[in-house]
Amino acid sequence: MTTTTQLTRVLVWNEYRHERNNERVAQVYPEGIHAVIASALNNAPDISAETATLDEPEHGLTQARLDQTDVLLWWGHMAHDVVHDEVVERVIQRVWAGMGLVVLHSGHFSKPFRRLMGTGCDLKWREDGRHERLWVVDPSHPIAGGLPEAIELPQTEMYGEHFDIPAPDALVFVSWFEGGEVFRSGCCFQRGSGKVFYFRPGHETYPIYHNPMIQRILINAVRWARPAGGPTPTYGHSQPAHGAPAT
Ligand code: ZN
Repeated sequence: MTTTTQLTRVLVWNEYRHERNNERVAQVYPEGIHAVIASALNNAPDISAETATLDEPEHGLTQARLDQTDVLLWWGHMAHDVVHDEVVERVIQRVWAGMGLVVLHSGHFSKPFRRLMGTGCDLKWREDGRHERLWVVDPSHPIAGGLPEAIELPQTEMYGEHFDIPAPDALVFVSWFEGGEVFRSGCCFQRGSGKVFYFRPGHETYPIYHNPMIQRILINAVRWARPAGGPTPTYGHSQPAHGAPAT
């Protein structure tokens, strides 16, 4: 008997502005952050990843495209306010209906993430290119599969607590920074029928998404966040579930 692997359909969304405006960023990601992430995800046999960017019509996030997406990844920074509220609403509705959402780095201030969290999502930061140690604090969590106890990132931007989010359902990573700060860098949330994962590393001037360990985490996160295939909930007025079927 053969089994067929169900492909997880992933859409990697990127604002794609820094790469076109900043020479330093263009050197690290000549084809955009989204291209590197999608390529890494497509190395997994059970994942089929495509990309979408802010300046495409409807930001590349039409209803039809979102309806065919199992997990959406979101990288944004300088243009959060340009994202149309109508598109944000579509993303939220899809998460509530079961689509997974992986929010990356400065996406902590994106409209979809702030809406889903219901808090300000602010933090402290410093772009000093110093060392980050990303500790696995939940080694039995699926997103930690195949990882060492800690991952060293020689150059990063610092994000420090307090991070103004609700208490996560699971905390997978905590970062330590050379300046002494710590940060909840891998946070899991359930929103409606959808799973949301926030992952901190990914500042655009450092080759974070080229790191094989970071790529492993993103693959794990997609597998964790994809819809589980459970029943579609029934909402609204309903007849009793017990007793004889209606004739
Ligand atoms: Zn950054």
